[in-house]
Amino acid sequence: MKILLLGSGGREHALAWKIAQSPKCSQLFIAPGNAGTSNVGENVAIGVNDFDALKDFAVDKAIDMVVVGPEDPLVRGVYDAFKSDSRTASIPVIGPSKQGAVLEGSKDFAKGFMKRHNIPTAAYETFDGTTVEEGIRFLETLQPPYVLKADGLAAGKGVLIVPTLAEAKKEFREMLGGMFGNASAKVVIEEFLSGIECSVFVLTDGKHYQILPEAKDYKRIGEHDTGLNTGGMGSVSPVPFADKEWMQKVEDRIIRPTVEGLAEEGIDYKGFIFFGLINVKGEPMVIEYNCRMGDPETETVMLRLKSDIVDLFEGVANGDLDQHPVEMDPRAAVCVMLVSGGYPQAYKKGYPISGIDKVEDSIVFHSGTATKDGQVVTNGGRVIAVSSYGRNKEEALKKSFQEAQKIQFEGKYFRSDIGQDL
Ligand code: ATP
Repeated sequence: MKILLLGSGGREHALAWKIAQSPKCSQLFIAPGNAGTSNVGENVAIGVNDFDALKDFAVDKAIDMVVVGPEDPLVRGVYDAFKSDSRTASIPVIGPSKQGAVLEGSKDFAKGFMKRHNIPTAAYETFDGTTVEEGIRFLETLQPPYVLKADGLAAGKGVLIVPTLAEAKKEFREMLGGMFGNASAKVVIEEFLSGIECSVFVLTDGKHYQILPEAKDYKRIGEHDTGLNTGGMGSVSPVPFADKEWMQKVEDRIIRPTVEGLAEEGIDYKGFIFFGLINVKGEPMVIEYNCRMGDPETETVMLRLKSDIVDLFEGVANGDLDQHPVEMDPRAAVCVMLVSGGYPQAYKKGYPISGIDKVEDSIVFHSGTATKDGQVVTNGGRVIAVSSYGRNKEEALKKSFQEAQKIQFEGKYFRSDIGQDL
């Protein structure tokens, strides 16, 4: 089977690594990929949102399956673009339709969906430019801290958690005034939930689902979760509190109602669902939905997925995912992200990276890298994910931290407390 994977981050390198291991995959292309994905497949210089060029490529190479990594092309309708073109309509696309991707693309839609299907989540109201005063009054009924969310995609920056009512009112007005452009034309205000977060992933064919290994990610730049938010500084799987009993609650109260709710509402959804959960006194609640895998969670989840991922994708495509069980590796897996100095604020690109070939006990996934004159160089804020297996997370972390020392580039930084809170 010839597979085309869309994306260029650490998530896509981890997916490519896993797909390439499948005996069912004869050829793997990654558009546009990065310096790491070119080691497991062939990079193609087409952007993830250039649907016409992607379709032409798929026709030209007789691609048998398209797997979508990031949310942007999904929210823009890459699935629909393939389905509505007679040349590509029969190619399975692993990723939801534009309508399904709204679960991630609109927080107001996601909250309304959860309300309609009795899925546990924080109490909320949504406001726009015509209901500013109502929003202010709603804020006055809540306890601090205040959670304000831009409705649309805002590159992971659209959520503000504000300590005082005065600041919340000010930020609320500014968000509706265009702080995040059109993404904050509507603002969701919701109750603050206190607990530890956990990401749960499923694959669905629209009717059946399979649950993949769960993971916890570390969002802040500084040790002990301080400083600015990032795309993710590391991840750990399994998550100790996500035991059998907790996961049963997640499946019964959250996963099954979500998949059934999508079907009931006639939403075409064949792909990953990422449940951003929080454990509130032992009870799982949904913080957010994403319509794709997480990054850096994929860099641990793929290590723990024993099943052939292409076989699972076939189940998604054929609508018989119930016949394709997930087998998990009992070992722990962790990922430590090496980032550019200055990230998540301004940073420089183009620094040579050395020592990747010295790494023995970990798996190196490239995130923001490129090849320049035959040399791998930094090309983003998050540069390299160092993923490891261990009998437990401590053993896996020890390997990742040791191996992280071997990789060098100017300004390299990583958090040395990944997994310490669990
Ligand atoms: P991501 O970058 O993960 O896609 P996002 O911008 O889509 O994030 P959310 O995941 O909804 O936004 O929120 C970002 C973070 O804010 C969450 O991971 C969580 O830590 C925090 N958060 C969001 N909603 C709440 C809430 N109701 N109570 C407590 N914390 C919250």
